[in-house]
Amino acid sequence: MVGSAGQRAFDSDEQVAASPIGSSHRVGMADLPLGPWAGAVVEAVVRKSGRVWHADPDCSQRPARVETSSYRQPDTGSLQDLVLPENLHCNPPGELGAYRRAANRLLEYDAETCGAEDRLAAGGLSLGLLDERLQHGDHDLEAVLASGELAAVWAVVRQRRNGLLVALRDAADSGSERLAVMVLADWVRSGRTRREHQPRYTEFLELAVERLERHRLAQGGADRQIANTWLPDWLVDVSTGTAPANATARLVGQVVGSADVRASHDVPAAVTKKVWTSVGRAWESLLTKLAGEYPGDIVAVFH
Ligand SMILES: [Zn+2]
Repeated sequence: MVGSAGQRAFDSDEQVAASPIGSSHRVGMADLPLGPWAGAVVEAVVRKSGRVWHADPDCSQRPARVETSSYRQPDTGSLQDLVLPENLHCNPPGELGAYRRAANRLLEYDAETCGAEDRLAAGGLSLGLLDERLQHGDHDLEAVLASGELAAVWAVVRQRRNGLLVALRDAADSGSERLAVMVLADWVRSGRTRREHQPRYTEFLELAVERLERHRLAQGGADRQIANTWLPDWLVDVSTGTAPANATARLVGQVVGSADVRASHDVPAAVTKKVWTSVGRAWESLLTKLAGEYPGDIVAVFH
């Protein structure tokens, strides 16, 4: 599943021609060559009548008294076809282990790209991916990825990531107000516990309490407590790149589905939905208003 924005970035002729994998295909083990695993024999050990297997002789959790089994790997196929015990604690040493770790890294990396593409299609900006300082690359694994049999697929997933980053930067450039909203949402949320932003947080809280009280949703004056439970979630959602309106839709769904809310709200679900939608809209407006007053220039951080 690739979102429209990601697809745009990934559908140029050149990129598709270079790719052995379909443009919207999330890479899986079946796409990865066996590499040094082809025809290899892996020795694994298990504690007598135990269930956790170890293939690394240097593993600190390897038991002293063990039974050994050999696992011969296929000559052809993909990493999906590896023959290994179900509960394998550690990889064999040397290039087999390094290759398998590199393969796992590749799959994680591609899954992260695909997730961000889906978020972008839904209006969410995974800005963390733009910040190189947040990308913890493992140089040894990346050397395996860049030089060995995984190199061709690695090139494809890197290209896909680069396409995503271009689309993300475009979205960020065209939406500096969106970024201001994200930064502000995080700032407001921090006011829940830190004194200096407390008034701003309280302003959001009061908007909700006022609406909940007006419609007499909660019994026993629980409105403030309920609002205080859900406001931080909404702010976190917005601060991590979800468009405010989408964050509201998600919030309303969660509130309506919440057993706690059902227990305290003595009204039909449709009323709960309507009132909480108005709460979300009020939060959206206040945040947008604050963003309009924000000094800007925060997009520069990501270039
Ligand atoms: Zn182990």
